[in-house]
Amino acid sequence: MIRPSVQALAPYVPGEQPKLKRLVKLNANENAYPPSPKVKEALRGFDASLLRRYPDPGCNHLRHLLARRHGCKGENVFVGNGSDEVLRLAVDVFTRNAAPVGVFDPSYSLYPVLAAIREAPLCKVPLPRDDAALAALRVPEPRPDLFCLVNPNAPTGTAFGVEAVRAFARALAPSVLLVDEAYAPFAGRDCVRLAFEERNVVVSRTFSKAWSLAGLRVGVLLGPAALVDALYKVKDSYNVDWLAQTVAEAALSDPDWMLANVRKIAATRDRFAAGLVRKGWDVTPSCTNFVWCKPPADGPSAAELQARVRNRGFLLRRFADSPELADHLRISIGTDAEMDELLELL
Ligand code: PMP
Repeated sequence: MIRPSVQALAPYVPGEQPKLKRLVKLNANENAYPPSPKVKEALRGFDASLLRRYPDPGCNHLRHLLARRHGCKGENVFVGNGSDEVLRLAVDVFTRNAAPVGVFDPSYSLYPVLAAIREAPLCKVPLPRDDAALAALRVPEPRPDLFCLVNPNAPTGTAFGVEAVRAFARALAPSVLLVDEAYAPFAGRDCVRLAFEERNVVVSRTFSKAWSLAGLRVGVLLGPAALVDALYKVKDSYNVDWLAQTVAEAALSDPDWMLANVRKIAATRDRFAAGLVRKGWDVTPSCTNFVWCKPPADGPSAAELQARVRNRGFLLRRFADSPELADHLRISIGTDAEMDELLELL
């Protein structure tokens, strides 16, 4: 017996993780550079006998460090097994049965899956063109219990300003606005203050992108204590293992390393995007570690280019199942040498 909503579910499809070493992975928005040397040190110095014990269920030390970093209290911080766990818990906790979950379209393709698992109707709203359009947006009826706003957005790489997001949050209240900030460190601006100034805003963050730790699985939610507390009530007891807690703490002790990587990636991104524009591509200006782009109409299609460069060792992401998105490619930013070679191939 399988629950009908699960039988009917089209699952989330993550970027391919091939076995071939030779491939340059530009399909999952991972970081092109390794994490801080402090991470290596922490792994080397990790006391294996600690693993006899269950990890701290509240991630208290890591929570304290994150609270210090974001200028809040520990009670405003939730730590999860990647931000995907945080998003799943948010959908569980902030929606009543059968109440809609709101998302912008296009946006992160996990949200429709999370809503479908809970049999919640998905309320898709076209992505507003700019800050003014977001601030003036009428909240759809019936009002979603939870609205998930990815900022900067994936796959478009565009970002709204904090005051436009605040205006939308106020229009949405008392429903909860989740601002998914997986890529915010690349934008150089964020909405974290809204998580402490507005009663209905939570902000999710991740160690997977800017901190180069996608393989570790640590995500964070910042928000009012009452909302954070609700997530702690329903999470698995030991959702973040000892190794993940220890390594995330080590990474946090070296924010300059993360910032240097972010700067390098942003510079490579801007150079690569300018190169595509010179070749006649339609490139959406990006605030992230990827670019959303469409090849010129008089040349090979996105699908053809994706297949051709794959034969030369480059993996790119295309949303082939979505008619509105399938003519674009989402290209994660690799090293300078990788991007120069790819530009040449394209
Ligand atoms: N949010 C967005 C917008 C993403 O693109 C991703 C990465 N696929 C995530 C959240 C999840 O990241 P993680 O679970 O690795 O923290």
